[in-house]
Amino acid sequence: MTSLRVFRLRGIDVKIHITFPLILIWAAYVFGTTGREEFSVAGATFGVVVTLILFICVVIHELAHSLAAGRMGYPVREIVLLPLGGVAQMDKLPEKPWQELVMAIAGPLSNVVIGTVFLLVGLAAGIDMRAGLLKPLVDPGGLGWADTLPYLAFTNFALAAFNLIPAFPMDGGRVLRALMATVMPYARATSIAVAIGQGLAWLLGLGGLLSGNFIWVLIAVFIFAGAAQEGRMIRVKNALRGLLVRHAFSHRALAVSPGDPISRAADLTFESFQADFPVCTGDLTCERGNIVGMLTYADILRALRQRSPDTPIRDVMRSEFPTAGLDDELFDVQRQMTEAGLDAVPVMDNGEFLGLLTRRDINEVYQMMSVSPELIQRSQAT
Ligand SMILES: [Zn+2]
Repeated sequence: MTSLRVFRLRGIDVKIHITFPLILIWAAYVFGTTGREEFSVAGATFGVVVTLILFICVVIHELAHSLAAGRMGYPVREIVLLPLGGVAQMDKLPEKPWQELVMAIAGPLSNVVIGTVFLLVGLAAGIDMRAGLLKPLVDPGGLGWADTLPYLAFTNFALAAFNLIPAFPMDGGRVLRALMATVMPYARATSIAVAIGQGLAWLLGLGGLLSGNFIWVLIAVFIFAGAAQEGRMIRVKNALRGLLVRHAFSHRALAVSPGDPISRAADLTFESFQADFPVCTGDLTCERGNIVGMLTYADILRALRQRSPDTPIRDVMRSEFPTAGLDDELFDVQRQMTEAGLDAVPVMDNGEFLGLLTRRDINEVYQMMSVSPELIQRSQAT
């Protein structure tokens, strides 16, 4: 919803987040005004063009992560470009520290390679690369088209260095955690890496405030929140480790038909414990191929707010939705649900509908397992 697909490569969707144009406006402003008395259109144009080229480098950076991950059996589904960089979404997280290390380092390494290529091309073209590389630091207002190659080399090296800051959600945070996880448990390595990342975020934020550098403060907030999220995710992963969909899902869920009015689903939420529904054709048993959509509680509320209660469910249901198998790991399914913005998924076995797995089911299991970890015999297949 909030991002647009630009292209697809080896099964990976490359998407642009709707906030992405903000960075171009920012680049036009900064390059158009820095070191100048009046706004310069030529400067702004240069800023927008090099920023666009840089984002191609960011795509290559994310593709490098993705290809390394795919090689090790962790396929990446999509790459989303945000104003502060890119994010590669994986269905599963790497299990072994060395796998995470290789995946994390592949991104910054690609920028070192790209930077070196720009550097060599510039040297071959007879450009004074030494002066050019320093120019963004000593004379940012004087940058022009002649500085394109050294500027791109400089920013790629800077990008590699920035991403290697040892703080989540930067690649350096993953490198640090992976290195520590070779000598201590993964959860402990994560907490230490989170603490280091948040400490660095405080320093960066403080430095930004004292020097009046607003972008630093913004990045510090981004790092702090990203580190906290990583810590939370690993705690949940730990508690859910070895638990499968079969341990948690709700059997015999009620279904609705695509021709039913929304009010029918609303009535069912009052009469039953259920608030999310599979949409099935035929006799509502949702047998093979009969399941045509999902209608979650959030969808029902939105539909009732925007439309008449008589609107048929087929007009408001989701026809694209992930499904879960009995032996899928709860943690992985939960991440997929979060990414799809869905509170419930149908549980299928050989095309047969068995029931629903809801966010509430997962939360219940998570809370129970946090109190009494021996409650369910966990699968050893992790
Ligand atoms: Zn990266």
